Amino acid sequence: MKTFRTLAFALIVALLTTIPSGTSARQAAAELFTCSMHPHMLDTKPGTCSVCTMALKARAMTPAEKELVDFLKAYDAAFVAKDLAKLATMYTPETIVYEGSGINRGWKNYSETHLGPELKAFENLEFAHTNVVPHVLGSDSAYVTADYMIKAKTGERLMDSGGIATFVLSKDSNGWKIRHTSTAARRRPAAGGLNQEQTRP
Ligand SMILES: [Zn+2]
Repeated sequence: MKTFRTLAFALIVALLTTIPSGTSARQAAAELFTCSMHPHMLDTKPGTCSVCTMALKARAMTPAEKELVDFLKAYDAAFVAKDLAKLATMYTPETIVYEGSGINRGWKNYSETHLGPELKAFENLEFAHTNVVPHVLGSDSAYVTADYMIKAKTGERLMDSGGIATFVLSKDSNGWKIRHTSTAARRRPAAGGLNQEQTRP
């Protein structure tokens, strides 16, 4: 009897520890959280609607939303691979790039004076978008909001930064293209203080 109880106890402990805790709180691969009253309210994690404060509910991504998330993944991979030829296929020729208060007008200007030289100079490059929220506006237009992180060594300088990004995209027969991006690096932590911009995981 005692052995049985010990076994039963061990079994319960084993079961409890193998049940993934908080699975529902994490974003499944192809899931978004939205408000049943306000379908344009989208997030990558549970929370409340910014319009009516109702709890957000999980739903599967639409094919177009998945396309946009996959586009961003492919973008990150091309960026890390420093594949300028691949990146060229992901922007429209007239794309406008805002980085902080800096502006590049057109892919030619952006790739030749900014992105190209920058990628060449980066060593040990890490770059990724997270919390990617695809907002589909029509069959050929969308915007995407995301967080980004970038780590790289440039000469003796170590960059360890991140922030928020918005992509405005349009779709042609070859797929989605970036017409405009705007990125803002998070604020530097004040000396001895907490950085509020880093509290979002
Ligand atoms: Zn709502």
